[in-house]
Amino acid sequence: MKLVRTKAELRAALDDLTGRRALVMTMGALHAGHLALVEAARANADHVVVSIYVNPLQFGPNEDFAAYPRDLEADLALLDGRADVVFAPSDAEMYPDQPLVRLDPGPVATVLEGATRPGHFAGVLQVVNKVMNLVHPDVAVFGQKDAQQLALVRTMVRDLDLGIEILPVPIVRDPDGLARSSRNSYLTAQQRAQALALSHALAAGSRAAAGGPAATLSAAESVLADAVGVRKDYLVLVDPLTFQPVVEGARAGLLAVAAWVGSTRLIDNLEVTF
Ligand code: AMP
Repeated sequence: MKLVRTKAELRAALDDLTGRRALVMTMGALHAGHLALVEAARANADHVVVSIYVNPLQFGPNEDFAAYPRDLEADLALLDGRADVVFAPSDAEMYPDQPLVRLDPGPVATVLEGATRPGHFAGVLQVVNKVMNLVHPDVAVFGQKDAQQLALVRTMVRDLDLGIEILPVPIVRDPDGLARSSRNSYLTAQQRAQALALSHALAAGSRAAAGGPAATLSAAESVLADAVGVRKDYLVLVDPLTFQPVVEGARAGLLAVAAWVGSTRLIDNLEVTF
């Protein structure tokens, strides 16, 4: 496994790779969720490139950019034997100049995560586009944990003819249901227990799905309403492509939740069929 810190080093490392190339983009603080993406990449390509970069463009001014967990040593230990190339650039390497040309992610980026985090998806697509252009992967792997991001990346690839296959990977959870997240490391033991309300709400919604969208949403809502220490941002049942609320009569939807546990903002989602 080769660690490269600059675009020039990346180019040189890529020159040595022949065959199909998969890209996994991460912000580091790697966990089992990321490793599932790396595994899917390995199963779908000859070579796996993992990027580790905490992209400042996708953080709002009052978000956790400075506090975001960073541990390159631990990340490299996890990736050893799983990845061929790890690209971990500095901010100066990624953005030597303030980027002037920006992407407009379109309407899906204005709701849910995009509503709470203005500019977030523009920042995400900027860095995804850049890293795709640097790595030239055949396939890029993204987690369904960030369902809205996945949808926007797919749309960008389609609309800009990037010609890269997008491979989605299901959410990896702890045995008790909590979705794995680098931000789980912010939680105290008590907050971690409280955070289970998110996945419990989704599960309750799923169990009520035979009753249709309204019953699904209300079952999920009642779990979240009873949860101690959890402040809801949104709990919605949306169309997985448009992220607009599903209409009565729809056959499937994405139940998506975002909530603060203490000062940590967590997201989770689950596909439901009615
Ligand atoms: P991040 O490092 O949080 O930016 O995530 C990098 C990639 O890993 C994204 O495609 C995420 O959707 C994916 N990912 C993060 N957590 C999980 C998880 N628990 N299960 C599946 N994919 C995940």
